Amino acid sequence: MSETAHIIGAGLAGLSAAVRLLSVGRQVVVHEATAFAGGRCRSYHDAAVGMTIDNGNHLLLSGNHAALDYVRSIGAEHRLVGPPAAEFAFADLASGKRWTLRFNDGRIPLWVFDPRRRVPGTGVLDYVPLARLLWAPAGKSVGEVIRCEGLLYQRLVEPLLLAALNIDPPQGAARLASAVIRETLVLGGRACRPLIAREGLGATLVEPALALLRQRGAKVVMEHQLRAIRFAGGTAAALDFGNETVTLGADDGVVLAVPPYAAATLVNGLDAPTEFRAIVNAHFRIDPPPDAPLILGVLGGTVQWIFAFPGRLSVTISAGDRLIDTPREQLAAAIWSEVARVTGMPAALPPWQIVRERRATFAATPAQDAKRPPARTAWRNLVLAGDWTDTGLPATIEGATRSGNYAADLIAKQP
Ligand SMILES: Cc1cc2nc3c(=O)[nH]c(=O)nc-3n(C[C@H](O)[C@H](O)[C@H](O)COP(=O)(O)OP(=O)(O)OC[C@H]3O[C@@H](n4cnc5c(N)ncnc54)[C@H](O)[C@@H]3O)c2cc1C
Repeated sequence: MSETAHIIGAGLAGLSAAVRLLSVGRQVVVHEATAFAGGRCRSYHDAAVGMTIDNGNHLLLSGNHAALDYVRSIGAEHRLVGPPAAEFAFADLASGKRWTLRFNDGRIPLWVFDPRRRVPGTGVLDYVPLARLLWAPAGKSVGEVIRCEGLLYQRLVEPLLLAALNIDPPQGAARLASAVIRETLVLGGRACRPLIAREGLGATLVEPALALLRQRGAKVVMEHQLRAIRFAGGTAAALDFGNETVTLGADDGVVLAVPPYAAATLVNGLDAPTEFRAIVNAHFRIDPPPDAPLILGVLGGTVQWIFAFPGRLSVTISAGDRLIDTPREQLAAAIWSEVARVTGMPAALPPWQIVRERRATFAATPAQDAKRPPARTAWRNLVLAGDWTDTGLPATIEGATRSGNYAADLIAKQP
């Protein structure tokens, strides 16, 4: 049984591991390199818009059971909001068409048989080939398994997989697409209800966890970057933080919950993803129209999703690498012109901010997916966590929290 568990990295993988280890009576110390917790899922006060915003809009689904258990365990479930049913409103910029996809609650996909619920312009038989994704052979890309064209692809499969995998879907690993479909569409509307941290990612997913950890006696040390791990025999023997070295006792354990490029510098010979995809978010300080849905899917333009928050509209563009070098003013104006068209808001550009996360997720190709390591390492008391470890899921909050839980269980049972 491990005595003290050292968690390296206060992203959602690290925080979920810390919360779980505390709940089974371990002493916990969290070491975070930066001055803030949350990693790629965080809020901050932004001077340009004069309000607290998130680095990027994050969508959870009601079937993300590990993420929702985590939110419950930190007492923040009331901060996740969404429509009462699994509904997704869409607008097509090119045709001006609007529709709402309405999944029925149960596992039998009755919505496919109902022209008022399914994707407009599609017929029942269009949905049948999607089943091929469920049994896709390992190592295949989505484009090798299904035809990536036609109305069903453009209006459902592409937006769903682009958001979930953060990659142009034909390049995406079919095994990850399969996992997404199994855990959402296959389970029915009960698993597909969209949920949003309306008061912010920090207030919902991060600060309540930090408060709980501190209240229960865990130490959370910020600006404490792990520089090296000293190994001796089959164990991690010491953690080198530059100005301080922590010697590990025989029963101490380490959860390394840092991104893959950081883990690769700390653990020699680690096989880990090396390619990444960007996500671009644009935030506009303006009151959303009263009838604006919480999230709106947009097709036929640059904007992919519009999120309506109190006093703010925020846009997500996944696999946004092509926009990384576009001048910020130009990008903000182009994005707002699409938002104004879709929402009917005035054309004048409101106060804005653009947040470009270059390494938002690992590139979910079959080749990069194959590089994801398991949580166990060659060292008895060192385990890996993070959305990039081999969770079988794309890089998501659900994957990060599952990996944190699994790493915590391994440390708790450490021989
Ligand atoms: C813009 C954007 C939008 C997204 N949208 C969604 C979405 O809608 N739905 C969804 O489910 N997921 C979404 N994701 C993905 C989700 O944010 C990630 O999967 C999740 O936050 C990853 O958590 P993590 O703990 O694995 O990694 P990270 O958040 O990267 O955490 C790693 C932590 O380790 C710290 N660290 C690094 N090196 C060291 C060191 N040497 N010592 C100590 N600490 C160190 C880092 O500072 C960081 O805090 C999105 C991501 C982005 C960027």
